[in-house]
Amino acid sequence: MVVGNLYATDATLPTYIANNLLPLHLHTRIHAIHNYRESTYVKREDELSATIVGSKYRKYASIIPFVQKNYDEVVVIGGENSNNVVGILQLLNENNITATPFLLKQNNPQPRGNALWLRLLCDEKNIQWIERHDWPQVEKMAAAYSKKNERTLVLPEGGNHYSALWGAMTLAFDIVQNEKDHELYFRDIFIDSGTGMTSIAMILGFAAQGHNERKFHITMIAGNRQEYLNLLQKHTEHIKDKLSCTIDENSIIFHDPPTAKSFGAVNATVLSEVKTIARITGLLVDPVYSAKHFLTAKGVSTAQSPALLIFNGSGFGLAGFQQRLCNYL
Ligand SMILES: *Cc1c(COP(=O)(O)O)cnc(C)c1O
Repeated sequence: MVVGNLYATDATLPTYIANNLLPLHLHTRIHAIHNYRESTYVKREDELSATIVGSKYRKYASIIPFVQKNYDEVVVIGGENSNNVVGILQLLNENNITATPFLLKQNNPQPRGNALWLRLLCDEKNIQWIERHDWPQVEKMAAAYSKKNERTLVLPEGGNHYSALWGAMTLAFDIVQNEKDHELYFRDIFIDSGTGMTSIAMILGFAAQGHNERKFHITMIAGNRQEYLNLLQKHTEHIKDKLSCTIDENSIIFHDPPTAKSFGAVNATVLSEVKTIARITGLLVDPVYSAKHFLTAKGVSTAQSPALLIFNGSGFGLAGFQQRLCNYL
């Protein structure tokens, strides 16, 4: 408990969570954003790490201790532009754990952004490149590879592994801490979803604290509602012997981005929103997740104020878009 308290977030973190986290600094600030969306605060998850997306960093806070206890190699599945692949490689290298990426082969003549950082973090000869037509079988291929050594963990795309749940839950505890510090209450919370794990863990984290009055606005960057609700049920089940949470499905409100709806799609509206957000709010947001998320939240009005907009971060994700962004200045 003591270690968790010192480094994690606040004193109310349940012992089980606190005892299963890496000693990382997991507190972020909130501040008002002006002239973008009425009466809105932003939570600066991008400030957790300069080079790892904030929401992923929370997941790794519990994935890494789980790996250290049980494994000595991790198979990391994803695309070469994945924020998760680049993020976890940093912490695996730091903790001296062997990483074997299974990556979708993309024939990229000149890697940029995450595709480049990934090659800095991992020698190409240790990467297993999977052809596009084999990609639907990637989990099976990774599982077959992992059979060679029982101390190999296969980490699914997006870090969507149950061991991530505890770290990701710290977000809800940290928001409650922000509310205490600022004497505020956020009934409406806007958060973006890829695999769904980050926002589901947050919802469970609030439920574990007995908060049942909130509205969670989920920007669907990837996946669909049914998959999301299935995952919510699975994770609720998963933690039930440690934390009992009842979730009212009516507290969850799904929103699709108003433009470039499919995952990874980026268009002129999104790229020009990156510039608008930077000029109005001072935030450098990535186009794949956060610019779409902000744009979505801007179009949703809420009855109570203020609302909280979670910036899962990071601006580091902009690196792959430098050339395209030049056209929108
Ligand atoms: C990965 C990611 C998310 C979503 O996380 P999930 O747990 O997969 O839902 C949100 N925002 C950013 C910037 C991300 O990189």
